[in-house]
Amino acid sequence: MVLVIMQADVTARNAIEDDMRTALAQGHFTLHYQPQVREDGHGHGQVIGAEALLRWDHPQRGMILPGKFISLAEETGLIVPIGDWVLRKACTQLAEWAGHPRTAALTLSVNVSASQFRQPDFVPQVLDIVQRSGIDPSRLKLELTESLLVKDMDEVVRKMAELRARGLALSLDDFGTGYSSLNYLKRLPIDQLKIDQSFVRDLLNDPNDMAIVRTLVSLGQSLNLMLIAEGVETAEQLAWLRENGCPAYQGFLFSKPLPIDLFEKLVATPPTMPVAQGPRPRPAA
Ligand code: C2E
Ligand code: MG
Ligand code: MG
Ligand code: MG
Repeated sequence: MVLVIMQADVTARNAIEDDMRTALAQGHFTLHYQPQVREDGHGHGQVIGAEALLRWDHPQRGMILPGKFISLAEETGLIVPIGDWVLRKACTQLAEWAGHPRTAALTLSVNVSASQFRQPDFVPQVLDIVQRSGIDPSRLKLELTESLLVKDMDEVVRKMAELRARGLALSLDDFGTGYSSLNYLKRLPIDQLKIDQSFVRDLLNDPNDMAIVRTLVSLGQSLNLMLIAEGVETAEQLAWLRENGCPAYQGFLFSKPLPIDLFEKLVATPPTMPVAQGPRPRPAA
């Protein structure tokens, strides 16, 4: 009985794996773009960039989110050609943005799986894609996670340093959820810490989350890193984060991840960002 179930499982996984190969060959993967927002110093929100998030536009099943297929892609090794496609697509997009004043300064963040980063030729591969696209490498930000740091730390740091020496930006995604040793953090050649949404979700109700986020912010400040909070959904979370020193945000409060045309429309006509905060109302005389 157990064997039968296992066999069914293997068959299903093989089917998805075949399906992923087809998707790659036939161009059924796509990127959605979620704006990253910063307060511009005058109380207004400004879109400073986007995170590219992978979507599988399945002809029968509709739009499939990465939670449904990334781990299988990692197990099967398909994450390598898929990740390669993501990087090419992101660089093509950045090259296009570079030609327009409104989009030329945007950065684009791309998620990189640990297994992808560990490929021996990952660094030359990325540098080749960046160079061919002709983009300013500092506009491309690679999002790495702490899972990368559990082994071969010296080799990982060496590769990170090389990417940074060539001008790319590096961000530590989901920060605080993984192998968080403060000892390694000071050795990491990174530009940005991304505060994980699990700390933001209950921020206003959970004193522990408040304490953690304050600590992450002060850590980022002392190490001179850019800070961005993900999963910002409410004006109250935003206000708290601002008051506690986190200057950049990503989340449904501003926008969910958007297809490229809608993202570009949003950049062209920025909605009134809820970052805007006028003078406090005067108490009635
Ligand atoms: P992540 O890199 O931490 O991306 C943030 C995820 O949070 C995205 O989910 C995004 O849609 C979601 N999100 C953004 N704002 C909010 C919010 O305010 N509230 C809530 N509840 N969620 C929010 P998504 O697009 O489903 O991606 C999930 C994960 O899949 C990503 O987490 C990333 O780890 C992975 N992923 C996405 N694209 C790629 C890719 O191209 N390559 C690799 N290797 N992994 C990817
Ligand atoms: Mg990410
Ligand atoms: Mg994240
Ligand atoms: Mg996450």
